[in-house]
Formats: sequence, C-alpha cells, structure tokens
Amino acid sequence: MRRRLVAGNWKLHGSKTMVNSLVSDVINGLENEARTEVAICPPFVYLQQADSLLTGSAVRLGAQNVSAEIEGAYTGEVSAAMLLDVGCTYAIVGHSERRALYAEDDDMVGRKFHVAQQAGLTPILCVGETLEERNSGATEAVVASQLKAVIAAAGADGLAKGVIAYEPIWAIGTGKTATPQQAQEVHEFIRELIRQHSSLADQCRILYGGSVKPDNAAELFAMPDIDGGLIGGASLKAGDFLVICNAA
Ligand code: PEP
Repeated sequence: MRRRLVAGNWKLHGSKTMVNSLVSDVINGLENEARTEVAICPPFVYLQQADSLLTGSAVRLGAQNVSAEIEGAYTGEVSAAMLLDVGCTYAIVGHSERRALYAEDDDMVGRKFHVAQQAGLTPILCVGETLEERNSGATEAVVASQLKAVIAAAGADGLAKGVIAYEPIWAIGTGKTATPQQAQEVHEFIRELIRQHSSLADQCRILYGGSVKPDNAAELFAMPDIDGGLIGGASLKAGDFLVICNAA
C-alpha cells in the first residue's frame, strides 16, 4: 500500500519568525503521523532553520527547486548535495511557475529530476496542463510528454521511485479545484503510462495539487489513484494545512 504524502510548497513566503511558528504549529497539530507522511518546502534560506526545528519529528523537509548541475561556476544555483546536506528529503522539480516564469523546459526538468535522484533526494515532479490545453482535449498529450522527458532522463523505474504531482495550471492559486473525477482520470492515466514501461507503477505516489483546501481535501484523497497533495496557499496557515494533512 502506498503511504500518503502531503507536502506544503511555501513558494516565496516566509521569515525567521514565521518559520518558527508555522513549523512548531504543524508538528504539534499532526495526528496519525504513521499513516500519512508530511513534508514542508520553505524557501532555500530557511531550510536549515526548519531542519533544526524538525529534529525529532516525523515531518520531512523539501526544497522548492534544485540545480540541474552538480557543482561549479553556476552563480545562484543550489545543488542536490547541498540540499541533502541541510536535511532535505525531497526537492520539487518542474513546478509550473518555474516552467512558465523561468523558462524551465522538459529537458531541464528531466535533468533536475535525475540529478536530484542520483544524489539521494526524492524528486517531486510537477506536471499539468493549461486551461487552453484542457479545453482543446490535449491534457493527456501534455502530461505524457512531460513524463516521457523524465523517463528519457531517469528511466521509467526512476520516475516511479520519485513522486509525481499532477497540478493542472488552471487550478493553481486560482481557487478552482479539479473535481475528484477530473483529477482521478489524469492520475489513472499517469499510472497506466508508467505501467507500460515499469513494474513499479503501483508503488509510485501521485499527488494532486491545485487549490486544495480544508473543505475539498477529503473528497480528493478518497480517489483510488490520489495518494496525497501538494499544497500551496493553504500550507501557509497551520490550521488549514493540518486539516488537509489529517484528511489524508
Ligand atoms: C502549488 O503551487 O503547488 C499549488 C498547488 O498551489 P495552490 O495550492 O495555492 O493552488
């Protein structure tokens, strides 16, 4: 059975004070830690502070991005080895904001996934379509090409050993959530695509992301191929995040 994962993506939010209070509130409010894994992904500069606060707790640490390079003259980059060194378990790769705003293409995302995994991190690969792509019936083709780029870089078993987050772009930060059925259809498609290339498809955790809130989390997590969530806005309020974690 796949262990549920709920990961909070704090994006460009936070301060030392906020990290102290939010991390403590999350640790203290979690129920059922054994059944559901919980992770938080603060900005790079707060990872070490968060790691110290998480000592002794089951909450995992993740980064929001990782360099595709291992080391060298790459000003401003943060490597997978550095993320491991400061206590990260996970690294998000290919978030739609990075694809759209920082020109990360499928090839770059594939390299980041592979480099992170080789270093010992578990990559959380984000995939998903725009509203135009959904309306034109291209959702499966778009998601398939995003997955195939990672299979080319890391192999199908590599992909299956990572975590995938299906995040329809039209649902991110918009308050519009995919219905549980819409999400389940794409999650099932993703699992079937992996199954065509790997025997590990049933082990792969596929999260849903896109305006998950306390009032819609339980119905999304009840779907057979939804193994948890990647949570943006609602991960910044301990109360909301805890309801979502506990729903999983
Ligand atoms: C995200 O950015 O990964 C995300 C899912 O954001 P939100 O929950 O705010 O839609």
